[in-house]
Amino acid sequence: MDDLTKMALDAGFEAAQKLDCSTIVLYPDVRAACELNRCGRYGKSWSCPPACGSLSECEDRVRKYSSGLIVQTVGKLEDEFDSEGMTETARKHERNFRTLSKRLRVDFPDMLPIGTGSCSYCDRCAWPDAPCRNPREAATPMEAFGMMVHEICRLNGMEYYHGKGTIAFTGCFLLAAGILI
Ligand code: SF4
Repeated sequence: MDDLTKMALDAGFEAAQKLDCSTIVLYPDVRAACELNRCGRYGKSWSCPPACGSLSECEDRVRKYSSGLIVQTVGKLEDEFDSEGMTETARKHERNFRTLSKRLRVDFPDMLPIGTGSCSYCDRCAWPDAPCRNPREAATPMEAFGMMVHEICRLNGMEYYHGKGTIAFTGCFLLAAGILI
C-alpha cells in the first residue's frame, strides 16, 4: 500500500485509490442535472452551481492536475429504508474528508478537494451575501464538476457498488500536476 492510500485509510475511509486525472471526463448532462435541484442546494452555496463556476471554468481547474486520490466511506444498512444508517455514514464521510483534506494540504498546498454533496463546512453558507468563509476547506461536489462518479471509480480500479445492504460516499482530491504520483 502506498503512503497516500494509507493516509486515506488512517483518516477513516474504507477504500482509497490513486486517481489518474486523465480518466476524468466532465459531462454537460451530469452538470445540467444540478439545475433540477433535487438536492435543494442549487443556487444556495458557493460550492454548487451556479456559484461554483461554469462547466468550462471547472474544466480549467481540473486540467491543472495529473494525479490525485479517490476515496470512499462505506456504511452498512439494516435495510433500504435505514435513513439513520445513511445519515451516520454521510457524517462519517464528512469527518473523514475534512481530516484527510487537512493532512493532504500540508504536502499539496494547491490541491483541489472535490466532495460529495454541497459543502457543509459552515452551519449556513455565506452565499450570496458575503465571500466564502473557508475557500480552502470548501469542496464542490463531483457531480457539480460534471463527473460521472461510477465511471471514475471503474477507470481507477475502485468498486462503486459494495453490495446489498451497503451505502458508499465517494470524493476525490486532485493533488499534483506534471507527473503521476
Ligand atoms: S466553506 Fe462555508 S461559505 Fe464556503 S462554500 Fe462551504 S458552507 Fe459555504
